[in-house]
Amino acid sequence: EHRPVTAEVAGSNPVGPVLIIISLENRLRLAPSPTGSLHIGTARTALFNWLYAKKTNGKFLIRIEDTDINRSREKFTTNILNGLKWLGLDWDEDIIKQSNRIDIHKSMIKQLLDKGLAYRCFTTEEESEKLREEQKEMRLPPKHDNRHRNLTANEIDKYISEGKTSVIRFKIEEDVEIEWNDLIRGEIQWLGKDLGGDMVLSRRANGYEIGEPLYNLAVVVDDNFMNITHVVRGEDHISNTAKQILLYKALGFNLPSFSHTPLILNTEGKKLSKRDSVTSIDEFKDMGYLPEAMSNYMALLGWSPNKDQEEILSLDQIAKNFNLKNINKSGAKFNWEKLNWVNAQYIKSMSRDELHKLFKECWEKEGWSSPSEEWGLKLTCLAQDSVTVINDVVYLSKPFFETPEITDDALNFLKSNDSKTILKLVLGYLNNNKKIFNNNLAKEILNSISKEHGIKKGLLMRSLRMSFFRCLNGPDLIESWELLSLIGEDNKRIREFLEVL
Ligand code: GLU
Repeated sequence: EHRPVTAEVAGSNPVGPVLIIISLENRLRLAPSPTGSLHIGTARTALFNWLYAKKTNGKFLIRIEDTDINRSREKFTTNILNGLKWLGLDWDEDIIKQSNRIDIHKSMIKQLLDKGLAYRCFTTEEESEKLREEQKEMRLPPKHDNRHRNLTANEIDKYISEGKTSVIRFKIEEDVEIEWNDLIRGEIQWLGKDLGGDMVLSRRANGYEIGEPLYNLAVVVDDNFMNITHVVRGEDHISNTAKQILLYKALGFNLPSFSHTPLILNTEGKKLSKRDSVTSIDEFKDMGYLPEAMSNYMALLGWSPNKDQEEILSLDQIAKNFNLKNINKSGAKFNWEKLNWVNAQYIKSMSRDELHKLFKECWEKEGWSSPSEEWGLKLTCLAQDSVTVINDVVYLSKPFFETPEITDDALNFLKSNDSKTILKLVLGYLNNNKKIFNNNLAKEILNSISKEHGIKKGLLMRSLRMSFFRCLNGPDLIESWELLSLIGEDNKRIREFLEVL
């Protein structure tokens, strides 16, 4: 079931070739609990694991920690896996489901009981609560008092015959020193006395049964089973690591290396949580962020490229330079502006056809369809440099699919600038023109009107913009004109204005 301990192997099988292969291959994992959608924090942990596996030619594995039956949902497993796939974080080997391994976890707890390293604790909820209250009053951190550590077999029988339920606790000596060299944070030391008393390994159960195994035990057993060589997870797990190291030793397992990544913080510097508006990957996806941009941005939350390197990098490029050592120790603030900038860079560098496909999906959702492929591609080019997220294309292209209402503001503008004359002149040019309308002709019309009638070009353009968009902002006028002209909307919109002016 578990990995051989090096010392034993060295004795019985010096330089076993198979073992050398195992120890050379780095094996990393993400162990999400399917109790919610894929959170950006989990996604970034996945990314760092994936990058390190990629960099070192190792494996990136997934284990679904679904043992909390009250909170785990299949739909969240699906959401998490789809999110990882979307981000480009593909995994190796079959996914391990923790719930399939409960019997094995229990058998390991049994081993610890048999070795006298763990014991039954009958402390009731009320008794624990009372202890916590007393500690609170004395301003002490919560810590179990290990009151049942030395119960005799008779005492245990008695409790059980009285119908009392029990958890299993693992003994943690007060003076035990736990140390590890964290690949991100350097040397870390803990003392047993700071771990909250003897550790609960399983939930409450009746009689001599062993209840549902808990996180720390299950993680150690499964990481060992999966031959994980590097555990990389959020710094909120540091005290769990201290506890888990004790379990590794008690079970005779080889220790992996541990790395704790800084947390992602909100703008106030607190841990980014569900309360911070958008945090799950599918929400970012729905808002129109690109997977490449998300992965790139998430890597920059904690990791930075070499000084001479750009920040816009593909996953493979990042992997080439990636090292756990280079991850920051301090928290990384989530920054919308930066994410938007990264996303816009990816949109700018996309091919017209690729982007057109994404825009078309947005248009279809709105019930809009372009008159021709060519027209759609032209509109794509027009919008490409102005969108930050893909969904921006909806408001940007709306006036090309739907004629905007004439507003009072627009009317007032045109009236006060004597735009009627201008619009009539433009219409005249359009009606008399025999050439095919295009950008050059648009420029020609503007130049001629401006020259022949002494009208300032700026006013000319603003008047046209008002009649096309019914407001003063919008994409490039000449390009827009061409698009509107291709669907006969330029003429129509100018005429509509002239009628009401
Ligand atoms: N299921 C745990 C979590 O989602 C896994 C932590 C770990 O990587 O060990 O926080």
